[in-house]
Amino acid sequence: MGLLDHIQFQKQKAAAEPPQSIEIDAENRFLVTWSGVLSVIPALRLRDACPCATCIEEGTGRKILDPATIPADIHALEVRPVGSYAVQIAWSDGHSSGIYSWETLRRLSGVGDPPGG
Ligand SMILES: [Zn+2]
Repeated sequence: MGLLDHIQFQKQKAAAEPPQSIEIDAENRFLVTWSGVLSVIPALRLRDACPCATCIEEGTGRKILDPATIPADIHALEVRPVGSYAVQIAWSDGHSSGIYSWETLRRLSGVGDPPGG
């Protein structure tokens, strides 16, 4: 067995396609449009799925955030683009370190990965 047999090459993954639009409705739900398909993500669900190092343990992926600590009236104060791959959401509970990649948003939207990806 040569050395190369032991090296796992990282699978090239196409960058997830960005949503066409992200809006927030009167009920604090995120309306995300993917290629003409609208998906609705409640703010609470997004906050609960925050992928930052404070909410998810790095390395193990274990969830640290206790959903019971999220206020029922949680809503986004600010949604800011991060490069061309994600948005950073500042929440009404003071938490703002979560960066939601398009991949994460897609997963939460339930639309899955783009075909062929
Ligand atoms: Zn977080």
